[in-house]
Amino acid sequence: ATPTALMVGTGRGAQLGILIKGPEVLENTRKADTIVLDKTGTVTTGRMTLLAVRAAEGTDEAEVLRLAGALEGASEHPIAQAVAAGAAERLGTTALPVPEDFANVPGLGVQGVVDGHAVLVGRERLLAEWSIALPGALAEARDAAETAGRTAIVVAWDGTARAVLEVADAVKDTSAEAVARLRDLGLTPILLTGDNRTVARAVAAEVGIDAEHVIAEVLPQDKVEVVKRLQAEGRSVAMVGDGVNDAAALATADLGLAMGTGTDAAIEAGDLTLVRGDLRAAADAIRLSRKTLFTIR
Ligand code: ADP
Ligand code: MG
Repeated sequence: ATPTALMVGTGRGAQLGILIKGPEVLENTRKADTIVLDKTGTVTTGRMTLLAVRAAEGTDEAEVLRLAGALEGASEHPIAQAVAAGAAERLGTTALPVPEDFANVPGLGVQGVVDGHAVLVGRERLLAEWSIALPGALAEARDAAETAGRTAIVVAWDGTARAVLEVADAVKDTSAEAVARLRDLGLTPILLTGDNRTVARAVAAEVGIDAEHVIAEVLPQDKVEVVKRLQAEGRSVAMVGDGVNDAAALATADLGLAMGTGTDAAIEAGDLTLVRGDLRAAADAIRLSRKTLFTIR
């Protein structure tokens, strides 16, 4: 947690695991009528697992794992960690090549050179930037994964798409209750994510957010624009997030709530920290602010 955060509440806020930066935050906590929830790491655990590898015909699955695993090993993204760990497990070794010219492409994936191959791992859109198309069989594999609520990650090297990786993370068991409580308090919950629409809708359905309140395929830098657009509609916007990607949106929102289990960047940008990473504490904070049970000591 950040040193600028203050523990508030005569016992209650502290007990509930809510840290607030100062008394001026309470006004906006009380007024919030819309709550934007980041998906990965906020509504879901963010702990991704590699569930399947769908290699194109003629492509060796072990080669997919070796090149994709090596490249993702250089990234700290939850998906990257799942791919790297899953590859190591399936290959039976953690001794993978070290990528050269590695670059993280925020919201899209990673790129770099592994063993002389120019490798891309990420969204189909990352491949599109290099004019690499997804062949029919891989497009089908992607659709099947997404329909099942999984995130499909594409692997390409040397200008050709080679495989689809299926990764997924679980919805936190407290998220559905939190959404129901936020709704009871009169707030409109909105799910915001860089992930694709089908996966986002599957997660939304699981926690009780309607499809019309899902904003998917949003690049990290555009999350701020989504918050501003909602504010322009006259809403008082609270935003909950955990990632570096969410920091600007948390700072722009009328009320920024950071997951205490998230990155320092998010915690620093937020007005309030949900220490235990439990979304129900967002509902507690709003409820308490309305009851004016919060007092600063
Ligand atoms: P969120 O907004 O849900 O927290 P991000 O903005 O971090 O997600 O990522 C959006 C999407 O970009 C992911 O769902 C994934 O498809 C792709 N992506 C981002 N980073 C990586 C990576 N290192 N490897 C593979 N795919 C990635
Ligand atoms: Mg996130």
